[in-house]
Amino acid sequence: MKKVTGHQVVEQRFADALQRGNMHHAWLLHGIKGIGKYTLAENLAARLLCESHSACGSCHACLMLAAGSHPDVYQIGLLEKKRDISIDQVRELLGFLALSGSESERRVVILDDADRLNNQAANALLKGLEEPSPGSLLLIVCADVEKLPATIRSRCMLQHCAPLNPADVRTVLKTEFAESLGADNVLLDLAVEFADGCPGAVSCLHERSIIDALQSLAKLVADMASSDIGKLENWCRTNVATVPHGLIVRVLLQPLYPLLQSPKPDSFAATQVLHKAVHGCLRWPGEVQRQSLRPAASLLACLLELRSALRSPVQQR
Ligand SMILES: [Zn+2]
Repeated sequence: MKKVTGHQVVEQRFADALQRGNMHHAWLLHGIKGIGKYTLAENLAARLLCESHSACGSCHACLMLAAGSHPDVYQIGLLEKKRDISIDQVRELLGFLALSGSESERRVVILDDADRLNNQAANALLKGLEEPSPGSLLLIVCADVEKLPATIRSRCMLQHCAPLNPADVRTVLKTEFAESLGADNVLLDLAVEFADGCPGAVSCLHERSIIDALQSLAKLVADMASSDIGKLENWCRTNVATVPHGLIVRVLLQPLYPLLQSPKPDSFAATQVLHKAVHGCLRWPGEVQRQSLRPAASLLACLLELRSALRSPVQQR
């Protein structure tokens, strides 16, 4: 089973409820997408069913869970190519909860993407929440809790899941992207910064081609003042459609921070020009969206402005 990182508060609260024997029958785990709420829900299910209530990973129940074959766990979510979760899916869920457990007297359902329940499905779920079956636990996972009817929310125990701190994001990225990121600490730093608490935001880094693109951009901008315009143009054309724009900007500006933080003396005008170019880069992702600019051409324009700012005689000294 995947390890949970960064949700100790929730795990502790669950463990306490388990120990005190006052487990609420429906937990609503909500928080932004990409922070590991589903993995957390799986872990909570494991805590409930584990023989030592610790998600030990080695008892019979934990082994069955890891193999996805525990008969007392049921998982539903948005099906591929479907727009919403249907009433039939919810009926199956409720039918499962009404059965008695086969391995233990507990049954757990993990309902993912709950903000995608359609109206009928939400109404059916509401009925189930009003009359919970003894021994059942419903773990509802959703990103946008406001999209759930208030009647559902009020019958659940709301548990907010916070974005991860940078150290935890680093741990997750290091493990999940070990293959693609390798030992590239510079890129890892940038990814941690860009993820901003949400490892899922950089899931594109699973693709080796994206890492390669970012690394080649980093090389190009390391010596921006003398970089080859043809190569810059080529990079933009090849990669602007696949690499997240925010990440491009991070890589682009990384080598400039020392220069911006301690500008050279007597270079007020040159520093102004550089600041203007940097602001252009920072605004670029938003402007591409708002003004539907052509991304490759507009990125190249930003790069050239940056390049010319860095080529000023003052910056070159
Ligand atoms: Zn166990």
